[in-house]
Amino acid sequence: MSGAHDFDVIIIGGGLVGAALALALQDSGLRLALVESGPATMLPDDGSWDSRIYAISPGNARFLDSLGAWSDLDQSRVMPIEEMRIWGDEGAELDFSAYEGGAANLGYIVESRLMQAGLWTRLQATDAVTLLVGTRCAALNLEDGQATLHLTDGRVLSAGLVVGADGANSWTRTQAGLGVETSDYRQHGVVANFATSRAHGGIARQWFREDGILAWLPLPGQRMSMVWSTAPQHARQLLDLSPDQLCAAVAAAGQETLGELQLLTPPAAFPLRLQNAEVMVRPRLALVGDAAHLVHPLAGQGVNLGFHDAECLARVLSGRGLQTDVGDYGLLRSYERARQMDIRAMQLLTDQLHALFGSRLPLLGALRNWGMKFTNRQKWLKRRLMAHAMT
Ligand SMILES: Cc1cc2nc3c(=O)[nH]c(=O)nc-3n(C[C@H](O)[C@H](O)[C@H](O)COP(=O)(O)OP(=O)(O)OC[C@H]3O[C@@H](n4cnc5c(N)ncnc54)[C@H](O)[C@@H]3O)c2cc1C
Repeated sequence: MSGAHDFDVIIIGGGLVGAALALALQDSGLRLALVESGPATMLPDDGSWDSRIYAISPGNARFLDSLGAWSDLDQSRVMPIEEMRIWGDEGAELDFSAYEGGAANLGYIVESRLMQAGLWTRLQATDAVTLLVGTRCAALNLEDGQATLHLTDGRVLSAGLVVGADGANSWTRTQAGLGVETSDYRQHGVVANFATSRAHGGIARQWFREDGILAWLPLPGQRMSMVWSTAPQHARQLLDLSPDQLCAAVAAAGQETLGELQLLTPPAAFPLRLQNAEVMVRPRLALVGDAAHLVHPLAGQGVNLGFHDAECLARVLSGRGLQTDVGDYGLLRSYERARQMDIRAMQLLTDQLHALFGSRLPLLGALRNWGMKFTNRQKWLKRRLMAHAMT
């Protein structure tokens, strides 16, 4: 129902999740605005690689395709994952293959910047979304009849619903007075891209090591992207190494599986934490993506959960009855209820894995390695785990 507001829905934050939500709502007939404090993402023309990469599930690739933001991506920079191999700290091995799961692939490795530019190209081509780029928010009031957003340039916008898609330190969430429950993993994720002297064969590799969790994700050609989740002090040491020293340390940690490495992008580190907003919705407010929840990156699911939020909220808003207000609490609660199980299940899985592999207790060491060997023998269990991760 369109009221006397400037917009029906204002989305704050045009990262991957906010941009995807805006596109998913473009045919809903709702009057939409997207407020992004940074610039619209453009691809650099020097062909350089982004050190922030994502493992996108096949289900989310289909979602992005339905928004027109997948098939237009430069496919020579998108790497399908054919197999995943995981090693425990006592040599146990677990592997998942697309062939075994009866699928063409297990997902795709894509640069953050490439996907972001793909979404923004689509946003700029539609007149269904008013884009307010480089715009800063000053204050948000959630009232009975409408939400009012004050911008720092003096403009005042009103809407039936405001969606916070503004990341882990969400300004929107804070303005709405919503707290978060946070648990610090006391780990940083160190990311960098490398050229490799041996072919990766489309295999994503992950080692649960004494000093953390090391992932090597295949990029097109002889390249790979690393995410090493490790103690802050070790992360600092890795960042302080010269490029040659870092290549040698990373190659050794991965048992030289891909031969010699050459650094393509300078390493960067991100603090890792588990986080949940106390609620995902309030009357006239909904949170999506990292503004609502954070998970450990060991399962590569953060942005996948966010895309599921965007798809679900768009479905709920587009499918509401004609007389239903977009900011109606009951309507927004149905979005929250629909998403809670998926989010909690993924947080529990990654949290438990992190705890299991972080423990130095010998009994847990034996248990986790036994658990990996056991899982590897259970084809039905592997198929179920794969089916879940591929949605
Ligand atoms: C080391 C590491 C590795 C990861 N690897 C993976 C992976 O392999 N797979 C995966 O799925 N996930 C991964 N993640 C998680 C992933 O990065 C996040 O889940 C994802 O970026 C969240 O997207 P978002 O759009 O919700 O938030 P963000 O990407 O944080 O975007 C928020 C947007 O809001 C804008 N903004 C902020 N404040 C305001 C404001 N006040 N007004 C207007 N605009 C504002 C920002 O400029 C930004 O554009 C990883 C995370 C880390 C730390």
